[in-house]
Amino acid sequence: MDKIKMNTPLVEMDGDEMTRILWQMIKDELLLPFIDLNTEYYDLGLEHRNETNDQVTVDSAEATKKYGVAVKCATITPNAARMTEYDLKEMWKSPNGTIRAMLDGTVFRAPIVVKGIEPCVKNWKKPITIARHAYGDVYKGVEMKIPGAGKCELVYTAEDGSETRELIHNFTGAGIVQGQHNIDNSIESFARSCFTYALDTKQDLWFATKDTISKKYDHTFKDIFQEIFDKEFEEKFKQAGITYFYTLIDDAVARVMKAEGGFIWACKNYDGDVMSDMVSSAFGSLAMMTSVLVSPHGYYEYEAAHGTVQRHYYKHLKGEETSTNSVATIFAWTGALRKRGELDKNEALMTFADKLEKACVQTIEEGKMTKDLALITTIDNPTVLNSEGFIKAIRESLEGML
Ligand code: NAP
Ligand code: MG
Repeated sequence: MDKIKMNTPLVEMDGDEMTRILWQMIKDELLLPFIDLNTEYYDLGLEHRNETNDQVTVDSAEATKKYGVAVKCATITPNAARMTEYDLKEMWKSPNGTIRAMLDGTVFRAPIVVKGIEPCVKNWKKPITIARHAYGDVYKGVEMKIPGAGKCELVYTAEDGSETRELIHNFTGAGIVQGQHNIDNSIESFARSCFTYALDTKQDLWFATKDTISKKYDHTFKDIFQEIFDKEFEEKFKQAGITYFYTLIDDAVARVMKAEGGFIWACKNYDGDVMSDMVSSAFGSLAMMTSVLVSPHGYYEYEAAHGTVQRHYYKHLKGEETSTNSVATIFAWTGALRKRGELDKNEALMTFADKLEKACVQTIEEGKMTKDLALITTIDNPTVLNSEGFIKAIRESLEGML
């Protein structure tokens, strides 16, 4: 069989710990035997980030801007313990944060739905994709403890020195106060990314805020989304047969619980933080969740939603057997390969990505899975495989399809 050719390189961002081990296994077993894999490789493993003073992260993001599509392995975000463990020169920033800031994107997270791993919400039949705005609000909030009686105001000082004031509260005793902000540009990027992703995946888009209570702040989000939709996307949505639906956040929550899924739910930063954990745990497992950063400039970066699975890595280092689920990492590769195929009109690459995803689903539905899934499956007597055995079982399913 001839290997599938790739015209344009994919930006490959390698990572850390157990996911780095899985990364190599996935390439050896599931990609290299079938594809003439054309990647531009960046080693984002913590050791190499440290050696390059994190320049490699910046370079990989620049390469993503150049080629348009990247696939990323989970990486360690250093903390105090990692400083000693890896003898770091500095507590390097989260690579995801650096990349997101450079590509200016929105992160979309969607569960991988398979029979036998059933959502807790029984009417959910199709995935619900959460799109979380990744800038501002309470995450850039400024707070004060008010010790006692006194006046609190919002003050805006324009460049010409003129002031606009708004009374927050006349305190008669102790209390608390918080200032939040967001930026029109960032909200516009968020909106464009959501509309673009809805078109890409042919799914309806929902968006919700609390604009009835927050008549300026949340209302601005609502207005920006509506303006951009009317100007740039209404016609395209009609042609694609999908809809944009705005409602209040509490109404959205109630409707989501009763829906059957199959749509994108755009959330403000805090709502997205909370709701993505609810949706992912209700769908079964973080190891069955994909994540893609979509920039409004048309760059895509695919990854797994989980981390480097440190606990399993330490077992692996001790020579003990691990049963780490590679599905989300495989789907990061298939997502990126399919997008590369789409941009290059490479049908063979797109078909391969579809088949590899089907092979993962089929393997699990046949009862062959890793331990995390065996613990929650409704399939009787599942076969629990180790990390490598599971990937080999997927290869067998894949070869049956090719
Ligand atoms: P984690 O790597 O997601 O793992 C947390 C726990 O979830 C694991 O110990 C494991 O549970 C389970 N789990 C996660 N993925 C699994 C998989 N594929 N197969 C089976 N079980 C899985 O989170 P963490 O331990 O909090 O973080 C470890 C490192 O990852 C940190 O250094 C953090 O900075 C980094 N991180 C990176 C990213 C990213 O690059 N996108 C995201 C999050 C965290 P059991 O141990 O019970 O089996
Ligand atoms: Mg959170």
